[in-house]
Amino acid sequence: MPVGTLANVKTVTPDQLQGTGAQMILANTYHLHLQPGEGIVERAGGLHRFMGWSGPILTDSGGFQVFSLSDMRSIEESGVSFRSPRDGQVIHLSPERAIAIQNALGADVIMAFDECAPYPASREAIENAADRTTRWLERCIKAHERADQALFGIVQGGTYLDLRQKSARSLVEFDLPGYAIGGVSVGEPPELIEKIVQATTPLLPKDKPRYLMGVGTYREMAQAIAAGIDLFDCVIPTRLARHGNALVRGERWNLKNNRFRKDFTPLDSDCPCYACQTFTRAYLSHLLRSRELLAYTLLSIHNITELVGFTQKIRQAIIQGTFAQDFRNWLQPAK
Ligand SMILES: [Zn+2]
Repeated sequence: MPVGTLANVKTVTPDQLQGTGAQMILANTYHLHLQPGEGIVERAGGLHRFMGWSGPILTDSGGFQVFSLSDMRSIEESGVSFRSPRDGQVIHLSPERAIAIQNALGADVIMAFDECAPYPASREAIENAADRTTRWLERCIKAHERADQALFGIVQGGTYLDLRQKSARSLVEFDLPGYAIGGVSVGEPPELIEKIVQATTPLLPKDKPRYLMGVGTYREMAQAIAAGIDLFDCVIPTRLARHGNALVRGERWNLKNNRFRKDFTPLDSDCPCYACQTFTRAYLSHLLRSRELLAYTLLSIHNITELVGFTQKIRQAIIQGTFAQDFRNWLQPAK
């Protein structure tokens, strides 16, 4: 899922996004609550109508943002209070409130409100956060009012594999339509993410979507798919684009580099995207050097197409039974 935090995937229109092969996108409860507010989205007819995207949308609950971005937060059993970074106003977010906001936004998949412990944190703090996440899940389920929205639970437990497993087992009891592994990509080394995924995924039902939150490099995705993960979200393709970087067959290129100035070949001649089919590296390099806004649109289109294409190729290889062989370079630890 490309990330559309504020009800848009940055610099890309829904039409262009559809052309990348992306099917589902992620929007952010916390950010949309602050601006424009869920009331306006609801009055517009829900998130799909508001942003002109007819494909599936997932909203994350805001837990991750509250715990990672907000100053002056206080955590209690009832929920979390924090100061809005926009106007300093104190906001209280609870499981009930997070679900009410997501019910109003109207995404297809909504996420339980979780406590995301920082990395590193003591075992005790992480266990408390994971246990609270399970108690909050029960409240989320009770508060959830729309049968047309699938509520996913989120496994916590930090880098402690036994706590991850305990959290996963307690979530599965609720027989939810899908499950996510959260609290990763918070600063821990990539090897640990892989260990967490391998220890946790098998405990989540195979016939339900299993979602690894906030992860989306080539290697992380290939390894997680091998463990049974189905869904990812990641800002990497669009964020890299805004920094003038292109993802090309597993590599990261800075198109402002001198070597591209007089390179009149396509970015990737095998790539089906609009940017590669229409423009040259020299042109993209020129746009970036001139800070023309079109540069970010074209690179975002390409980067999303590239990463979505990577997962499509994996899907094809799984069907053909050649995944382990064809993707062996990505399935090994990074050198
Ligand atoms: Zn391309």
